[in-house]
Amino acid sequence: MQVIVAGLDTDYLRRPFEPIPTLCDRAEYVTKVLAVCHRCGGPGLYTQRIVQSDDLVVLGAEDAYEARCRMCYDPPSPSNPGSRWRLSSSTPLFLLI
Ligand SMILES: [Zn+2]
Repeated sequence: MQVIVAGLDTDYLRRPFEPIPTLCDRAEYVTKVLAVCHRCGGPGLYTQRIVQSDDLVVLGAEDAYEARCRMCYDPPSPSNPGSRWRLSSSTPLFLLI
């Protein structure tokens, strides 16, 4: 039997986001598909949250998340609050699967 699953493997803080990491461990084949970085067009490895919330999951689309590459990802941190939660206009939806 063939089962195909798609989903995010990390959360907006780049932490493992279950159940995808566990499923990848058990899968015979895994294909990682990358989005396109919203800023530079590079490989969008990470999910940048662009709205302010400490909740693990915030429902939304282009108004809440952007795909970002390793260089453009801006991790939220208490020591760098000015870089946190910048909202940009016209942000398309990207999903990392
Ligand atoms: Zn980029």
